[in-house]
Amino acid sequence: MPPPPIRCGPLSLLVVQPTPFCNLDCDYCYLPERDNRGQLDPALLEPILERVLASPFLGDSLTLLWHAGEPLAVPIAFYDEASARLRSALARHDGPTVELRQAIQTNGTLIDAAWCDCFERNGIDVGVSLDGPAFLHDAHRRTRTGLGSHAATMRGIGWLQRRALPFHVISVITENALDHADTIFEFFLAHDIKEVGFNMEETEGENRVSSLERPGTEARWRAFLQRFWELTGRHPGALRLREFEQVCALACGDARLERTDMNKPFVILNVDYRGHFSTFDPELLAVKTQEYGDFVLGNVRTDSLESVLATEKFQRMHRDMAAGVEACRSSCDYFGLCGGGAGSNKYWELGTFDGTETQACRYRIKAVADVVLAGMERELAIGADV
Ligand code: SF4
Repeated sequence: MPPPPIRCGPLSLLVVQPTPFCNLDCDYCYLPERDNRGQLDPALLEPILERVLASPFLGDSLTLLWHAGEPLAVPIAFYDEASARLRSALARHDGPTVELRQAIQTNGTLIDAAWCDCFERNGIDVGVSLDGPAFLHDAHRRTRTGLGSHAATMRGIGWLQRRALPFHVISVITENALDHADTIFEFFLAHDIKEVGFNMEETEGENRVSSLERPGTEARWRAFLQRFWELTGRHPGALRLREFEQVCALACGDARLERTDMNKPFVILNVDYRGHFSTFDPELLAVKTQEYGDFVLGNVRTDSLESVLATEKFQRMHRDMAAGVEACRSSCDYFGLCGGGAGSNKYWELGTFDGTETQACRYRIKAVADVVLAGMERELAIGADV
């Protein structure tokens, strides 16, 4: 009997690498080619978009995220040309209407008035990487000569704020941050930063060991989250933490996750500056591993998205990823909030996609869920008493 067809998509996130180069050299970065000044040829956007628009996996809206290097290390003119090419590819598309948004995840150090004009002109949503106050940010986010980047990032944020351009912040949590929940919260409030996501420092790619693996850090992370929950409760509406919002939304709805975007094939398409593409989580695109080799499935110049489903490489990735999700489903009480995690975490921590619990899921899913659900329960009990 032929194997059952693989369910792919709906494709909703297209991650494109304008350059692997980064003007910073953060010590926890997983990217391997941060010195490579290669750049995506804007003409390559046409085959990228053609492959996406012709794909049966495409959903009805698509975010193109410029990422995987410092996207502002390429000239402003690149995004003007790219945006014009995207508009004309969409205009030529004769299938169902697709809503396309552009977004960028930047270290913020290069943002100035001209970049704000570019974001506005081309409708690009902005995310800035900022680890809180200078003493935490500059401990890790440094230039190649060892200088801190906090002042430059805050200057960039100042430009966004002066121009009233909305943005969110991604903060990487390292072991240094764990005793500073109050300081971090107050820093964000003082600088009018209202949308924050915490990314955990992970063991992956070039970052061989995370500081969060040190003994005792998980208990400190739980105490940090507990304090952050109290602070957000005391200042309603002042700061939205992505991790709390996600668990609250799932806990208040009746949906349970069956998979995540990270472990369902072709919900995310990742394309590097040479046109090589991969799927599942974006962290898989640029890395090479002993067990699987690289995770490049094809190139947009020569391969359609559907054509790679038959390759041995995709079949093996999918088989192992699906086995890991099923193992999670049958063994983990948090599965409905998590959907089985990201393959890259499983690979880097367990050596295979076919695994279950990782440090990443203990920090990002289990600790957050425990703090939020206990907090909601307490608040409901207080509400019932009054
Ligand atoms: S929390 Fe961890 S072990 Fe549980 S479903 Fe998610 S990835 Fe699997």
